[in-house]
Amino acid sequence: MNLYEMSWPKIDAMPRTTPVVVPIAALEQHGHHLPVFTDSMLLGEIWRRAHEKLGDRVLSLPLMWLGNSDHHLDFPGTISAAPRVYLDMLAGLIDNLVFHGFQRILLINGHGGNDVPGRQAIFEARQRYRARNDLRLLFTTYWGLGSKPWEVEPAFKQREMGHACEWETSMILRLAPHLVGDYKSAPEISFGQPYAPAHMGWITKDRSTIGHIGSPHLATPEKGEVLFDVFSKDLVKLIELIAA
Ligand SMILES: [Zn+2]
Repeated sequence: MNLYEMSWPKIDAMPRTTPVVVPIAALEQHGHHLPVFTDSMLLGEIWRRAHEKLGDRVLSLPLMWLGNSDHHLDFPGTISAAPRVYLDMLAGLIDNLVFHGFQRILLINGHGGNDVPGRQAIFEARQRYRARNDLRLLFTTYWGLGSKPWEVEPAFKQREMGHACEWETSMILRLAPHLVGDYKSAPEISFGQPYAPAHMGWITKDRSTIGHIGSPHLATPEKGEVLFDVFSKDLVKLIELIAA
C-alpha cells in the first residue's frame, strides 16, 4: 500500500506491525552515458516489482530521491544532502514513524553513499529507543542481499556494483533505453581500491575522471532484466521475513 494515496484515518487503521518501507536513493552524476536520476529510477523499479508482489502486507513511503552524494559534487547536476544533514533527515523520518506507532521499519537503499549514514541512522535510532523491545529497525542496500546475478546469467563480468557500470547500465537499458548514451565506447574503469581492505576516504574524481566505475560497455537489457528480477525477489523475501 502506498502511504501517499491514503487518508490519515486509513493509515491509523493499519496494524502497527505492518512493515513500513522507506525507499532511499539519490540524484547524482552517472558518467557520460546515464541520466542523473539513475539510482532513483532503478530503486523505484526494483521496489515497484517487489511491492506488487507484497500488496497490502506492506506500507510504502514515497521514494526519497535526495541522498548523500557529496562525493559526486564535482560533476554538474549532482544534488546532495551533506552527510550529517542526511543522517538527521533519516533520523527524523524514523522518529515520525515510531511516533505514529509503527514497529517494523525498513530503509531500502539504492545508492552507495547512503550506506554508511543509513546504517548509522538505524543504529542511533535503536539506542534512542533502547527501552523498547517491540521495534525492528532495519536497513538494506538492494544489491547486498546475497544474490549472485552471475550464477543466473554467466555473461556477467562484474561481481559487485560499480557506478554507471555493467549492472546499472543494463538496468537502465531495460527500463528507459532512450535515456542511455554511448555506453559501448565507454572505457573500462577499474574499481581501484589500492589500500584495501583499509578504507580510503574518496571523492569520485580520485577514482574516475569520466564519472563511471566498472564496465558499462558490457551492458545489455537482458542482463538488466535478470538484475531487476533477482533484486526484487530478494526484497520480497526479506520483507516476508520481517512481516512473519
Ligand atoms: Zn548509481
